[in-house]
Order: sequence, then structure tokens, then C-alpha cells
Amino acid sequence: MEHKKETRQFKTEVQQLMKLIINSLYSHPEIFLRELISNASDAIDKVRFKAQTDPDILGQDAELRIRIIPDKENRTITIEDNGIGMTYDEVVENIGTIAQSGTKAFLDAMEKAKNKESLLPELIGQFGVGFYSAFIVAEKVTLLTRAAGQDKAVRWESAGDGSYTIEETDRASRGTSVILTLKPRGDDEPDYTDEWTIRNIVKRHSDFVSYPIVMDVERREQIPEGEIIKDKEGNPVGSTSRTVVKEETLNSMKAIWTRNKSEVTEEEYTEFYKHISHDWEAPLAHLHIRFEGTTEYQALLYIPSHLPLDFTLRERRHGIHLYSKRVFIMDDCRELMPEYLGFVHGVVDAPDLNLNISREILQHDSLVRNIRKNLLKRIFDLLENMEPEKYEQFFSEFGAILKIGVPTDHENRERIAKLLRYRTTKSEGKFVSLKHYVERMQPDQDEIYYITGDNFAALANSPHLERLKEKDLEVVLMTDPIDEWVVQHLGLFEDKKFTSAEKGDLGLDKPDDKKTGEFGDFFAFLKDELKDLVKEVKPSTHLKDSLSCLSGEAYDMSAYMEKILRASGQKTEPVKRVLELNIDHPAIANVKYVFEKDRTDPVLKDYARLLYDLAVVAEGGKVEDPSRFSRTVGLLMAEAITAEELMAGDAIEV
Ligand code: ADP
Repeated sequence: MEHKKETRQFKTEVQQLMKLIINSLYSHPEIFLRELISNASDAIDKVRFKAQTDPDILGQDAELRIRIIPDKENRTITIEDNGIGMTYDEVVENIGTIAQSGTKAFLDAMEKAKNKESLLPELIGQFGVGFYSAFIVAEKVTLLTRAAGQDKAVRWESAGDGSYTIEETDRASRGTSVILTLKPRGDDEPDYTDEWTIRNIVKRHSDFVSYPIVMDVERREQIPEGEIIKDKEGNPVGSTSRTVVKEETLNSMKAIWTRNKSEVTEEEYTEFYKHISHDWEAPLAHLHIRFEGTTEYQALLYIPSHLPLDFTLRERRHGIHLYSKRVFIMDDCRELMPEYLGFVHGVVDAPDLNLNISREILQHDSLVRNIRKNLLKRIFDLLENMEPEKYEQFFSEFGAILKIGVPTDHENRERIAKLLRYRTTKSEGKFVSLKHYVERMQPDQDEIYYITGDNFAALANSPHLERLKEKDLEVVLMTDPIDEWVVQHLGLFEDKKFTSAEKGDLGLDKPDDKKTGEFGDFFAFLKDELKDLVKEVKPSTHLKDSLSCLSGEAYDMSAYMEKILRASGQKTEPVKRVLELNIDHPAIANVKYVFEKDRTDPVLKDYARLLYDLAVVAEGGKVEDPSRFSRTVGLLMAEAITAEELMAGDAIEV
């Protein structure tokens, strides 16, 4: 299909994003070069990976490299690679639209942020800036690209002003050139066409890129004795030196994971992290491992300081890069890192791996399995020994993802459990470990009480906790949807059983059989009245001050779980719960009194429903018939207040 030149508009989000990037990164303009080199290096990784199954793809152009071409006269700088290139549609898709789901999330977060200016670098950091950073320094960006295996090339151009042009063109060979026409240079701004400026930036940000970054440089050279240089007219020139152009490689390509820890500086670790993760901020922690033994490998792993805005388990990107003897095999090697640590970035270099290994084989490879096991162990060690403050940051960013490990990684369940943090009824808003909870249990307590729901305030004040609080028993407040599964799969922590505060009997006190017996008839009546809503009505083991609450039986699905499943679109039969009533509460005694006087009194129907509705309201639910609810409460208030006034001898006519 032939494509004529056309002008297209950037999607609105792209325009917004470009503005944000340019405005927030003006103080670090030089990072454009790192971003473009990084894209070039990714593109070469891709063509090299393809070449493993299709060696012809490299053709004559098998020497993979990135070239920087400064042009002082025209004030341009070109970053060129012989990587995989892009087709017409790929250019439109990748450069014109920003397909990543994260963009929207990013812009929404930006929209909401109060303190926009100061938050920008942080938000950008979570997002990665990529190609558009070119517009920090360029007034016009031209991209020429030819995809591997295609005859035609594509020319894309934009002045970053909302539109771009795109057309079909020719390019001698496979790869991409990004040509930046630089903005006029201010007095104290660096000159990005200057050899030393470029060298410095490359050294600082891209030294370990694993392909040569080459540039032609001019050098004065001594003229060898006996050789006579002539000018155009053929007359001998008197000078003893001449200018020659040489190609030089600017980066050392030294894979930092192969070096000794003592030889790598903090800055180098950080720069390398930024290179592989496309994150703009420094990582929270890194782990540099050299493992020698039957399994031999080197690894450099990083834990980011933030959960990227576009992080979803399925779409996670970059992850662990797999190498063998410094030769890149693949990125995002999921076989080395379980889903619940999918946010870890890094490099693993295993010399014994076959370069042609496929993803299918990787899964069953015992070497890979061994490495994964070791890596996990080291990551757990790192997390367990992290300074508390740092760990808190880690957990608030990644805790919900880490929890996925409890139901999915049987082998490491205990270690993950140690890493969990929760708020409790006694932690004063802080997150504490389960170990901490167990340490301060009551002497005769042998269960860990917990309750699940979607917000702390409602949980902390739930009527289910009244008796527990009275007995000074601490309750873990769980608000991540995954917590239900975590508890189910853990079952125990340090031999202490998890006990739901809203399911089953708490067994805190022996029931007073005589008193309970007195309520038998009354409760049977209520159960019949509410038979469509509850499966049982019984004296509460939870309540102290409230009238009523709804509980599950020990093996029922919790109300929160039911809500989560319903919200995720799953059809679940509504689980009928148990209506628990506080038989020590005077109001219950009063209703029982009305019941015993006249079982056919129509007001009993309203009271039965009210007791149920009050339980629903107490757990933050919605009553089904709010107007009936409000009418009944209104009448009760009128009666109560009238009675009071009467007692004070000051009657009101009603
Ligand atoms: P990111 O690199 O974070 O994905 P970018 O905005 O930098 O975001 O690039 C978007 C996409 O454009 C890349 O994912 C890649 O598919 C494509 N791309 C960018 N530069 C190149 C290049 N030099 N060669 C091939 N594809 C490229």
C-alpha cells in the first residue's frame, strides 16, 4: 500500500503530555539523549533477538551499533540505529498516539494533583518520558525509519505543535534515524553538537549500553615524515599536521553486573537502573549478586521507588533482562520472577544458558528454576532487612502486589507472611507486622482476629468488634481485596489461627443458656419475619453497645468478598447471613415485651425490619427501603421523646 504525505493531529493526550514533559524537564535537558539512545538500544535488542531464528534478517548490516551525528553548521544532532525499525503503521501507533494505558492514568493523576509543579518530576518519574523528550531541546524532530524486511521507509516530522506529517520514503537500510533540529541556544546552555558535550552525556547516562555508540570525531594528526601534502593546485603545503576524521566508540559497554561491587559507584547503579527500567527516579534498593557453584550466574536487581502508574500485572514491561555471557537473550523474562514481584527490574546473566533458548523451554529449564529460587531468597533477605522507613515505603507501593504471592507461591508463603503489614485496632494508623501482633497478644489469646472491608474507618468502628474491644483484644483491619485469599491460604501465622471477627461465634464468653432460652420464641418469630433476608437470628457474641449486626457462619463467604466478586462482574448467589441481636440491650428487651404482650401487633413487623436495617447501616451498607426506615425511626423518636416529656410532667398534644 502506498502512503502519500499527510498531516495528522496528535491525540490530545499526546499534546498535553508533550507540554508537561517539556515544562518539567527543562532543568535536565540532556536526558533526551539517554532516552533516544535507550530506544535505539531496545530496537537493536529486538532485531538481534529476531535474528536468532531468522539469521538473514541482519543481511549486510550485521554490525549492530548506534551512531550519533552532530552537525554544527545546521544545528542538528542525529541518533541513528540499525535496529528493528518501524513500519508505517507502527510509527503512527508508537509515535503519534502513545498507546500505553498509563498515559491516561498519568494525565488523570496530573489533573487531580493540587501542587502540579512540584509533583511533576515525581509523576514523570513514574511514567517514563521516552521519545517526546526530544522536544525539550529540538524545535523540529524528523524520524526516518525502515523496518527489518521492508523495502519502503517512513518519514515522520513534527515541530511539537500539535500535528505531524508522515509519508513514505526511502532509506538505504534497516533502522531508525532521529534527527533533531535544535532550538536556538541560550548563552549558558550546552551545545549539543559539541563533541565533548556529547561524550560527557553518553558517559554519564549511557556508558553501559551494550552496543557501541559511535561518532565521527575530528583529530589533528602528525603528517608522517617524507609525505608531502599538496593543496588543490598541487603546491606543497608547509604544515606538519592535518585534520582527519575518525570513528570513535563513546561508551565502555562495560556490563556493570559483571564488575565487582566495590568498583561500581552508587551513581552508576542508578544510571543503569534508569536505563533498563525507563524510570526517571532512583530505585529504592538494589541487589548485586554473583552466584558461584553448580549454578553460576550474575544478577543485578532493583526495586523501584514507585509503582509505575501504568503497572498492570499483564502488561508489565521490561522486568528482568536475560543475558548469557553479556549477550542479550530477552527482556521481561517472567520465568525468573513471579508475578507478585513483577515490579522488580534487573539483569540476570547466566553463562550456561543456551542463547537460542525459547520461552517454552525456559519454563522447564532446571538451571532457570534454580536461579529463580536463589533470586527469590535474596530478595526476601533484602526486604526483611530493609530499614523500617524504607520498608514502609516499599510496602505502601507494592504491598498489594506482594500479597498475591501468598495464594500463588506455596513454597515461600511463610516468608511472604512475615513481610505483610496491616493496620489494627491498636496500631494508631500505623502499619505493623503480624509478628508484632502476635507478640502483644493477651496471655490467654490464641487466635489472630481480623476483619475485612473496604475502608479503615468503617472497619475500626464496626459493631462486630465491640466485644473484642471490651476484652482489649486487638483486631487486624484488612482492606485489600486480596486479603481474603491471603488469610484463607495462610490459615495460621506462628501457629496462631486467623479468626474472622464477623464470621461464626467468637467464643469469648460462655452463653447464658437461661437468658438465651427466654428469647427463643421471640427470635423464632423474627427469623420467620425476615426469612427472605437472613438464615438465622441469634444472640450475639460480638455486640456490646449496638443492637444488631450481620455475621457469616464460619465457612461463609464474607460480605466484602461478595461485594468484590460482584464488582468484578461475577455472578454470585447472595449469601444469607445471621442476624445477631444484643440481648443485653434494653431496646431488644422492650421489643420482646411488645411481642409477648401481643404477637399480632403490626408494629412488630416494622421493628423486625428495623433491627435488620440497623445492622446493614452499621456496616456501611444501604437499606433497601430508606423511606420506610426513616419513617419507623421518626415514629420511634416521637414516642420516646413524648414519653420523656410526659415524665417531666409537661405533656405535648400529638
Ligand atoms: P517507550 O520507549 O517507553 O516505549 P517511547 O515514547 O520512547 O516509549 O517510544 C514508543 C515506542 O516507539 C517504543 O516502544 C518503540 O516501539 C518505538 N520506537 C521508539 N524509538 C524507536 C527506534 N529507534 N527504533 C524502533 N522503534 C522505536
